[in-house]
Amino acid sequence: MSVETGKINVQTENIFPIIKKFLYSDHEIFLRELVSNAVDATKKLKGLSQLGEAKGDLGDLTIQISIDKEKNTLTIADKGLGMTADEVKKYINQIAFSSAGEFVEKLKNTDSNAIIGHFGLGFYSAFMVAEKVEINTKSYKEEPAVKWTCDGSTEFTLEEISKAQRGTEIVLYIADDSKEFLEEHRIKSLLNKYCKFLPIPIQFGFKWQSEEDKKAEKPLEPEIINNPNPAWTKAPSALTDDDYKNFYRELYPMNFDEPLFWIHLNVDYPFNLTGILYFPKLKKNFEVQKDKIQLYCNQVFVTDNVGEIVPEYLTLLHGVIDSPDIPLNVSRSYLQSDANVKKINQHISKKVSDKLQEIFNNDRKQFEEKWSDIGLFVKYGMISDEKFYERSNSFALFPTIDNAFYTLAELKEKIAANQTDKDGNLVVLYTTDEDEQHSYIQQAKERGYEIVKLDTMIDNHFMQQIEMKNEKTHFKRVDADIVSNLIPKDAVADSVLTKEQEEKLKTLFETNIEKTKADIELKALSPTDAPIVITRNEFMRRMMEMQKMGGGSPFMFGGMDEKLNLVINTNHPINAKLLDEDATQQEKHVKQLYDLALLSQNMLKGEALTKFVARSFELI
Ligand code: ADP
Ligand code: MG
Repeated sequence: MSVETGKINVQTENIFPIIKKFLYSDHEIFLRELVSNAVDATKKLKGLSQLGEAKGDLGDLTIQISIDKEKNTLTIADKGLGMTADEVKKYINQIAFSSAGEFVEKLKNTDSNAIIGHFGLGFYSAFMVAEKVEINTKSYKEEPAVKWTCDGSTEFTLEEISKAQRGTEIVLYIADDSKEFLEEHRIKSLLNKYCKFLPIPIQFGFKWQSEEDKKAEKPLEPEIINNPNPAWTKAPSALTDDDYKNFYRELYPMNFDEPLFWIHLNVDYPFNLTGILYFPKLKKNFEVQKDKIQLYCNQVFVTDNVGEIVPEYLTLLHGVIDSPDIPLNVSRSYLQSDANVKKINQHISKKVSDKLQEIFNNDRKQFEEKWSDIGLFVKYGMISDEKFYERSNSFALFPTIDNAFYTLAELKEKIAANQTDKDGNLVVLYTTDEDEQHSYIQQAKERGYEIVKLDTMIDNHFMQQIEMKNEKTHFKRVDADIVSNLIPKDAVADSVLTKEQEEKLKTLFETNIEKTKADIELKALSPTDAPIVITRNEFMRRMMEMQKMGGGSPFMFGGMDEKLNLVINTNHPINAKLLDEDATQQEKHVKQLYDLALLSQNMLKGEALTKFVARSFELI
């Protein structure tokens, strides 16, 4: 065979400038494409060998990647099945380049971002970084080796060469604007990103096998950059807890926490999916740790942006999902409506709740200990996924300030007798901050009320959800009302003051404190209760907090200031005494009482606090 030249058959005259332009941000994926072609070729050869079609010993099958800075080349060499001259014409000239044409068509019709970073680019992506590409290949069949060259135009040459070794060598003559791909560290980090778990050993660079060898100045050994048999590809029964933990460390070398537990996914019907999902230790009020799940397709890294494949709340998990069935080279909006993706979604969600239920049943103590880590995303899931809510109800926990943990059903049973109000509503009392709400907690405890801790950022939404699903169950923060009103029962105490005295008392407070800030109400409480209490309306407070967090509330409370409730205890001796004082004293005392009430809510700040301190000295 003499040198043959030809024209690559594509509709678009010169596709390469277009590819280069559109894929500018993602040039690096050429390496993933070429290495996975090398892996495919090697796997195919192994397959042929098993069928008896490729004869003899296959020998070492390691894929080699090397840089030659003098020649400006990057070479990917495999010992796979290779190609004959006819096969190069067919698979490279016709197939690879016609799919290039299709790709450009697609780019024209879609948002280019939708395609970038996904599969389907193939061999020609080499031209994103190379001004010339050479293929030296020798088939496992008894046929001469050939060299194919193309400089990025639509013309190619094909000639016979002598090449002893079976397999394919792709030589990229790196273009001037892509010189970074001649840097060892750049290639190394790309291999680490995309090829870390490819199933065929990949060699790049050299290293000493051990520190001793280094001291003894032994020669360098080729360095294998990947782990061809990652944990998720093995049977769960073949793995120990340590294997799972080690694999976690392999995935996240910078994360020093141990995972809480894990789920090994292994599905083959109605779609193919394997993987391991880890429950990480969440930092309190999750400083967002999303995008830790890595998506692979036959052990080739695709993306760590798995938003469409995994339900939103599960993106807090870590780990690996590998599926050849997820359509990767299509747009995100298509993914969202894809039936397979929906099924995968539901499957993963079910596996997760099954696992949680299993731990809850088998080792409730362990489950309770880990609740502060897992609670957040269980709640997140219960809010955002109806089915997950139903499944999680039996293990979602409510921790109390006394360190007991109740499921909702257990909690209801526990408090039914003491915490049902006169209208038959079950009132669940909670605190968001035990220090800040200390005095309210004390009073509630004296009445024998249980107080649960709901102190994470999504608890407002979580409570809302529970209230919606459970008629006649209401959550109230301990400072939502004076203690005798938190759970209103029938008994009403009498006031020692006359109607006239009460009016006077009310006017006194109204004239001496800023009326716009608080609603003033007189109540005949016990003389041992506080003389004046500030409470924060549950509904208003919750709505405003949710508004602040962004969305979630169907009402508009954005620009509004919260109005406080000021309850004056008409039966407290201090208030009776107030009525007999002169005007200057009255003003001082009313202000002092109001400030004290604010203080116990941790709401006295700034100038008001300074004034309070000054006034306190005066009064002493
Ligand atoms: P795909 O891998 O999706 O088939 P590519 O454009 O990456 O598309 O490759 C086109 C074809 O070229 C492959 O299907 C294969 O037949 C052939 N090919 C590419 N690289 C190699 C290689 N290293 N060894 C053997 N054949 C190869
Ligand atoms: Mg390919």
